[in-house]
Amino acid sequence: MAEKKIREPLLIELSVPGRRAVRLPEPDVPEAELPEHLLREDLPLPEVSEVDVVRHFTRLSQYNHAVDTGFYPLGSCTMKYNPKVNEDMARLPGFAYIHPLQPEDTVQGALAVMYHLQKYLGEIVGMPGVSLQPAAGAHGEFTGILIMRAYHRDRGEHQRNKVLVPDSAHGTNPATSAMSGMRVVEIPSDERGNIDLEALKKECDETLAGLMITNPNTLGLFEEHIEEVVNAVHEAGGLVYGDGANLNAFLGIARFGDMGFDIVHLNLHKTFSTPHGGGGPGAGPVAVAEHLKDFLPGPIVDIVEEGDPPTYGFVWPKKSIGRVKAFHGHFGVMVRALTYILMLGQEGLRKVAEMAVLNANYLRVMLQDTYHIPYNRLCKHEFVAEGRWPDAPGIKALDISKRLMDFGFHPPTNYFPLIVKEALMIEPTETESKATLDAFIAAMKQIAREARENPELLKTAPHNTPFGRVDEVKAARELILTWRDWA
Ligand SMILES: *Cc1c(COP(=O)(O)O)cnc(C)c1O
Repeated sequence: MAEKKIREPLLIELSVPGRRAVRLPEPDVPEAELPEHLLREDLPLPEVSEVDVVRHFTRLSQYNHAVDTGFYPLGSCTMKYNPKVNEDMARLPGFAYIHPLQPEDTVQGALAVMYHLQKYLGEIVGMPGVSLQPAAGAHGEFTGILIMRAYHRDRGEHQRNKVLVPDSAHGTNPATSAMSGMRVVEIPSDERGNIDLEALKKECDETLAGLMITNPNTLGLFEEHIEEVVNAVHEAGGLVYGDGANLNAFLGIARFGDMGFDIVHLNLHKTFSTPHGGGGPGAGPVAVAEHLKDFLPGPIVDIVEEGDPPTYGFVWPKKSIGRVKAFHGHFGVMVRALTYILMLGQEGLRKVAEMAVLNANYLRVMLQDTYHIPYNRLCKHEFVAEGRWPDAPGIKALDISKRLMDFGFHPPTNYFPLIVKEALMIEPTETESKATLDAFIAAMKQIAREARENPELLKTAPHNTPFGRVDEVKAARELILTWRDWA
């Protein structure tokens, strides 16, 4: 285990009695007596100057890899560049300082943003109903399954409680289905990375609520028999849910609605460029086909009075499953997404997908002689390679990833999907130049050579980062979830 190379001081260690970063203005109201029991002397807060605070946290922030500092091919997460104009728009005072409880006639601009975003997203996926409420992709999935359940119950089909999930689905798919009270049945993939049609059809019976399919799947592969898959589920009375978190794979080129899907969610914080990672706010809007519009979570924005301009207001779908989020969802993310859509326009959105697919295939083809790619066919936004070689025993995907950090690259997603051994899931995204991709290819090839010639170099990596290899097991087993005034 490599040693931690830097011991970063805690802010409390920089404390000097009497130092301070802010001075409160003289009070212009009479001082109030605080109750004795609320006062305490034993709280050791750091006494530091403004420059101490700024330098401490800026230094810490620079230990992080970020989309704004380097290439970040973290498969399935779409860590692409987020245009700064989105931030300018989200920070406009008229958007940033409104309150969700303001009367509707004072927030018509914000309602217009939501209305138009609903319309654009509906058009992009080819479905007429959209709710912007869900706060993330997994939350959108949860919402979608609740809609699926409400639909079946409304038709008196209470026995429909089974959701089929292919083994190439994103991990959140079985999790959200199970959380919604459904029985989850896994469907295997065939050797081309498609759904095993025979296995699927065997499960298509009167207990089927629906199929939840990530398309393209986590191998980055588009389901080649999507029409047959959708038809089989529909014929059995089930609904088809599409996980559209990675829509940069066919944005502006193909539409879920045209493929016969009933429900889909999108990740605004991936495809529509809101900074994400670290649990920051995202949005996972859900779109539905005509027969499911009444079940959407409410309220949604609609035109309540025609005119120029029209009057917007919140309305409740007739058989709504209810709210899934306090107030109206993450509004700032919606402003960013609408900005992104308007900036790019129809042609630009299509170009996003074309470049995402081109970049992924360029990497795939350039690396296929060095890394084994088990499902090696034309991919969409990402592909999955194996991080192991028969003649480099002991080298794992994790060692390759750690060594990549020495070259200034964020590692790919490791060990997912589970159907590929020692998986390295690589998503370059559309915003990278050929020069960056070539530098990544060179690093990956050098690492493959080192794996044979000097495996220790990989085993002890990273070497050039502020911290060495962390003990990931310890981090998971001995969680420290609150601030402590001791090491
Ligand atoms: C990221 C992702 C999700 C989950 O989205 P969150 O916003 O992280 O909840 C679901 N499905 C796929 C395919 C994804 O890539």
